[in-house]
Amino acid sequence: MKVGIPRALLYYWYGFTWRTFWEEAGTEVVVSAPTERSTVTVGSKASVDELCLPIKIFLGHVRQVAHQADWVMIPHLIKVEAGAYLCPKFIGLPDIVAHACPDLRDKCFTVTVGRNHLDMFQSLKRSALRLGIPERQIPRELKANNRLPALYELAKAGYPRQPEAEGGRLRIGILGHPYCIYDRCFNLDIFDKLNGLDVDIFTPEMMPEHMAGLGSGQLNKELFWTLGRSQFDALEWMLGKLKVDGFIHLSPFACGPEAMIGDMLERRIRRAGLPILKLFFEEHSGEAGMITRLEAFIDLIRYRSRVC
Ligand code: SF4
Repeated sequence: MKVGIPRALLYYWYGFTWRTFWEEAGTEVVVSAPTERSTVTVGSKASVDELCLPIKIFLGHVRQVAHQADWVMIPHLIKVEAGAYLCPKFIGLPDIVAHACPDLRDKCFTVTVGRNHLDMFQSLKRSALRLGIPERQIPRELKANNRLPALYELAKAGYPRQPEAEGGRLRIGILGHPYCIYDRCFNLDIFDKLNGLDVDIFTPEMMPEHMAGLGSGQLNKELFWTLGRSQFDALEWMLGKLKVDGFIHLSPFACGPEAMIGDMLERRIRRAGLPILKLFFEEHSGEAGMITRLEAFIDLIRYRSRVC
């Protein structure tokens, strides 16, 4: 039996966990190939205009992997930590897929996570039983390291440096959702551009796990978006321990939660007296404009660090 996993959305957190589970359950796992322009085109055609780019990319991956697998796993992630939720599009994902890809309805199955990480295992187990996998074949526990896929993508992009590494290079904090940071087609390969500008980058997934909750816990009002909390935690780590020189915030055009979180992050960064570059992405984003803005931003920080 071949189980297909779309390489999109929170695959960049949970991808290795999902893969390991299905492999240990005795299935062959097929992960869709990294996003390309054709994936975006296919996903955009299947979706309504109003959806954000990451969801369109997800739909492109679903169609892509459906040709190679018997089943396609649709992660239905409602809540993956206490007191916070994922956005309504994650919550409605199975319906979005069923509406956008009616011909694939019989091939898709969902893994619903509603309360905490334990649910992930129970839900995977339930799905495995529904697919006819005998109980004795199902792994007894879930091996999870949610930062692995992200760190693997960073290493592939040539950023193996440890946060504590010394050196005179500029330090840039990258903020955004994992699928905006690590999907190199979505962000027009920003890692490659930054590599060329000779700067060190730091992402939320590089933050030591014991710092989770410290930044978001300082907010006046509790934040109930998981993907917003993770950015505020990373922000405090980057401002405090790392002392980065500036921030780049990657955001999909038309993302509801990020319209608010992005503004809150910007205010906090400006209060700390640091510069921030906000980049928005949609299907028609062009490289030339982004490169010009990146180069100007990095030049400005270099100049600033020399004169201040
Ligand atoms: S959080 Fe924003 S970018 Fe992510 S799925 Fe929801 S609307 Fe789209």
